[in-house]
Amino acid sequence: MGKKEPRKRQNGKRHNGGGEVTDVAGYMHLKPDHVEKLREMHRLRESLSGIPAGSEESPKYRSYTLHNFRQLPQVQRLSEKEQFAIEVVAKVLPFKTNSYVVDELINWDDVPNDPIYILNFPQKDMLLPSHYKEMAALVRRGADKSEVEATANRIRLELNPHPAGQLDHNVPTLGDTRLTGMQHKYRETVLFFPSNGQTCHAYCTFCFRWPQFVGMDELKFAMRETEVLVEYVRAHPEVSDVLFTGGDPMIMRTRNLARYIMPLLEADLPNLRTIRIGTKALGYWPYRFLTDDDADEVLDLFKQITASGIHLAFMAHFNHPRELSTDAVKAAIARVKETGAEIRTQSPLMRNINDSPEVWSDMWREQVRLGCNPYYMFLARDTGAQQYFSVPLVRAWEIFRDAYKSVSGVARTARGPSMSADPGKVEVLGVTKVEGKKVLALRMLQGRNPDWAMRPFFAKYDPKAIWLSDLRPAFGERRFFFEEELGKRYREDNVRRRQSKPQKRSARRLAPVR
Ligand code: SF4
Repeated sequence: MGKKEPRKRQNGKRHNGGGEVTDVAGYMHLKPDHVEKLREMHRLRESLSGIPAGSEESPKYRSYTLHNFRQLPQVQRLSEKEQFAIEVVAKVLPFKTNSYVVDELINWDDVPNDPIYILNFPQKDMLLPSHYKEMAALVRRGADKSEVEATANRIRLELNPHPAGQLDHNVPTLGDTRLTGMQHKYRETVLFFPSNGQTCHAYCTFCFRWPQFVGMDELKFAMRETEVLVEYVRAHPEVSDVLFTGGDPMIMRTRNLARYIMPLLEADLPNLRTIRIGTKALGYWPYRFLTDDDADEVLDLFKQITASGIHLAFMAHFNHPRELSTDAVKAAIARVKETGAEIRTQSPLMRNINDSPEVWSDMWREQVRLGCNPYYMFLARDTGAQQYFSVPLVRAWEIFRDAYKSVSGVARTARGPSMSADPGKVEVLGVTKVEGKKVLALRMLQGRNPDWAMRPFFAKYDPKAIWLSDLRPAFGERRFFFEEELGKRYREDNVRRRQSKPQKRSARRLAPVR
């Protein structure tokens, strides 16, 4: 494909190498049912972009990965060195972007510093120097696939693929069978990983679930059998929430998603109050709710959930305010909300992507304006490319506080900054002084032991610490309050795990939707 000139900003609206919308004003403030307008906008964009239009009817999703990213006209603007770095890092960490991200979100005039570019395109420093050097040497000499894969797998195992004990301590059992497509860490909430939903419309370079996407089955959570989920929730009256997660469950066709959700509704479980869907589809492919050929069906499915009296919590993942700026995402949010679903928003705080108070306050303000509830600011987890993205805890708290101070009460609903760590979700409350000593105040938001919730505790002040494991208890204490019990729980889990057997992969097909 030929080289394209960068688009220029016009009237304060960003344009990029993917095609200029000449009549933006006509598409502002779209109502949910104005999807034809979006189709028109998309046709215009496609016809101007130089990328062949896939469909006259609706925006066509195209993914770009290691195998075809060099075909993107915008990528031709990167130096050969930058393209090589993408190739090297993507041999180890997952890489996928798509036509919407490339054409409508990334500001190619600002690449390589553009936050959405960094969100999807691997960067050299996302690997440790020694790992990068090793893989680059293989790529340079054209090593064969098996050698590259073996080296990639060894590096991956050095990147803490399962942080916070999720493989060893979160997998529940039914009888003596380990349910390897589920996690149950907090009393009220069970996570379910539908096997058809273990990919995403694009991959975030920081994703802590990266092992789901690299083809190492032994690292992956996935499950087809909804009946086991139903049985598990029935057997656990303390469970009120089921979270469908992945990957991204919204990658599934509606009929597949329905095969997981309908059995839960039909089982009429008295303890089930909330179905949560963890998704970044609004950020990465809003056309899923607008113009995809089963968009209306998925909204009907949402309506069935809410009509059954179950709360549908749409746990939307947005990392940067730009993801909230397109007409498509605004219309998609409105359509999802129309079904009775509540949209809660969350994101990790990531250096190079969103590490400023202004980014967060803009994001929270805009989310509230669009009818979403800011829910969590997380911290970069201790896995994958943490060294590239992490922000010290003290700095993270300052960013949270400055953002929080600058928004009104209705946007102050987010919790954080929070670490999803071994014992639970730990919030950084801030830096303070106790009897003249500078300390870091923390609070357990959710714990493996439900009784730990909301317990405050103190750590020695450490401006460089990036994770709970870097912190030491303040005031001469030897351990944090949860450590002894956590150790005991982990030892008991280990015994249980040795006595249980993994769930057999079912050869049966999913039950048909009634
Ligand atoms: S959308 Fe979520 S699961 Fe998918 S890559 Fe991004 S963070 Fe990971």
